Amino acid sequence: MYSGKAKDVTLLEDNNVRITFRDSISAFDGVKKEELNEKGRINCKTSVILFELLNRYGFATHYLSQLNDIEMICKNVEIKPVEVVCRNVTAGSFCKRYGVDNGIEFETPIIEFFLKDDDLHDPLVAKEIAIQLGWITKAESTLMESTTRAVNQVLSAIFERISLKLVDFKLEFGSTDEGVLIIADEISADTMRLWEIDTGEIKDKDRYRKDLGGVIDHYKDVLQRLEEIESYPEISIKSTAEITIELKKSVLDPAGEVTLRSLKRKGYQGVEEVRLGKSAKISFSLTPSPNLQEIIKEISDSILSNPLIENYTFDFSSGE
Ligand code: UDP
Repeated sequence: MYSGKAKDVTLLEDNNVRITFRDSISAFDGVKKEELNEKGRINCKTSVILFELLNRYGFATHYLSQLNDIEMICKNVEIKPVEVVCRNVTAGSFCKRYGVDNGIEFETPIIEFFLKDDDLHDPLVAKEIAIQLGWITKAESTLMESTTRAVNQVLSAIFERISLKLVDFKLEFGSTDEGVLIIADEISADTMRLWEIDTGEIKDKDRYRKDLGGVIDHYKDVLQRLEEIESYPEISIKSTAEITIELKKSVLDPAGEVTLRSLKRKGYQGVEEVRLGKSAKISFSLTPSPNLQEIIKEISDSILSNPLIENYTFDFSSGE
């Protein structure tokens, strides 16, 4: 069905897919590449552990089961052309782009979107551009960002338990046949930066990118530490919906008109129209998911607004 730089994807009869992790490793858009014994097995197992973890914390992911040492069974999705990077500390392309030092900790994690296109070297893309060019919808971008922030909260806590700093990571998303957006692809030392908390030693793909050696030994060590975790931390993930309700354009707004007259009387120039609306902020102790997005729509439709005369929009955030 598809053969990528490090994995093969095969469509199965039940419309799930089998993802095969090969021993290939590559960097710089595939310019540098190599085969490393055991890499497929290690990345498969690391991904399995991390996807099982995310599923357990309530995230919607493509992962269903592990088939064997190098293969997992996942839901079939159409991968979005945009990937999301979350950064806790400056490194890699971020330092190059902005000319800043490696290792500066962000007060609030940074979220960036990149277009997946090797020929263009995966350029950074503004969310608004990705939406207007039709690569993702507004609702998808909101869910991708809030999910990535919440995943960061979970993964950072897990890696801290095993003395590793999650510096940054990349997530891919895909939509199912039903149009539901879920986390896809792989999550491993190939797709994140991990530094030893005590020494700053690099434990991820930068070992390969920078020819530091010991790639497999360090990947193996990360995996072994993950396997040895006995209990997972309690992490309370909060998601917040901000809903704005407005009267439909065709509906008269007497209170707005009173305000407009009063503004004019007070001499404010250029004020043309006033429409008064209401807003609601609802906090959930829930993981952001397509399901939660549906719940918010339902609440907005049936309780917060009167669909006959009002429209609503909502924003959604998480993991901050
Ligand atoms: N990353 C990835 N796939 C990509 C680009 C980035 O998995 O195609 C990961 C990378 O391993 C790092 C994070 O996303 O953990 C941020 O990468 P960055 O933008 O710094 O790019 P890089 O320096 O890796 O080219």
